[in-house]
Amino acid sequence: MVPWIAVVGAGFVFWNRGLSPLDLLLCVGLYAVTMLGITLGYHRLFTHRSFKCGDTLRAALCIAGSMAAQGPVFFWTACHRRHHRHSDEPGDPHSPHHHGAGVSGVLQGWWHSHIGWMFSHAPENYVRLVPDLIREPQLRLLNRYYWVWVIGGILLPGVIALAITWSWAACASAVLWGGLVRVFLVHHSTWSINSICHLFGESPYETEDQSRNNLVCALLTFGEGWHNNHHAFPTSARHGLEWWQCDVVYGIIRGLSWVRLTWDIRIPSSEQRTARIKAPKALVPVPAEPTPSQRGVESNSMPSTLQQGKAILLAARTPTSSQR
Ligand SMILES: [Zn+2]
Ligand SMILES: [Zn+2]
Repeated sequence: MVPWIAVVGAGFVFWNRGLSPLDLLLCVGLYAVTMLGITLGYHRLFTHRSFKCGDTLRAALCIAGSMAAQGPVFFWTACHRRHHRHSDEPGDPHSPHHHGAGVSGVLQGWWHSHIGWMFSHAPENYVRLVPDLIREPQLRLLNRYYWVWVIGGILLPGVIALAITWSWAACASAVLWGGLVRVFLVHHSTWSINSICHLFGESPYETEDQSRNNLVCALLTFGEGWHNNHHAFPTSARHGLEWWQCDVVYGIIRGLSWVRLTWDIRIPSSEQRTARIKAPKALVPVPAEPTPSQRGVESNSMPSTLQQGKAILLAARTPTSSQR
């Protein structure tokens, strides 16, 4: 509730005093840092182990992810692994589906997947879903002090502003924009992957769920919005599999590999991708021509020839999923 109240307060502040360049810089900068903590750290490194890196970078990504205030790393990882295990089926903690038909069903599903699941999902012993992470003493320590990172992340912009301006008013304003409003923005961008990316967008790959690729979500989350690609290849460090699918997170993973800070980066081969592309739609059946007796005219060979011709034309017009 705190970020919600802060956003309302920020609206009043913005109306009366506007937004200083320093506040904007701190808000955008910490949005980027904590978003990368979630996407690069919590998601692609800790949940899916799609690349490897050293202990220092692991700790930095864990702290940056914790500063996003979405839960300790063990909890977040366990929830997300459970999502992949039961995606859009009973057991998925935040599927937007199976909440009724029509517009109200879609709205109820969206609300559940976006926020509601955090208050209503069935309790589970999450520890058993992350045995690999629990074995790491460093991660156990960082996980235990989760609230230190959250509060530190909210206060950090205030400390930076105070050091630059020596003004307590600037310090308070920076805490509001770079701390609380930033948490609100990162929350809703990442939660949109759970909600929007299982409702709206394209799904070029064959998966057993309703995951979608969504450009807007991909831009807001630095590449996480290519969610159908991700469900097709969960351990891939690269989510934007096409050249035009912007994936800043993968670019950073690849860039870090050039200075040997990341290695063993996993991406699917072109053969694996081709095998998962949705098959072209089946030949559209053409209604049978009426029999001569039904039409009351003499039979000839044209009906079957016409039927074959129509079927070929329809097949040629039916787009494949990759063409759409
Ligand atoms: Zn998903
Ligand atoms: Zn995932």
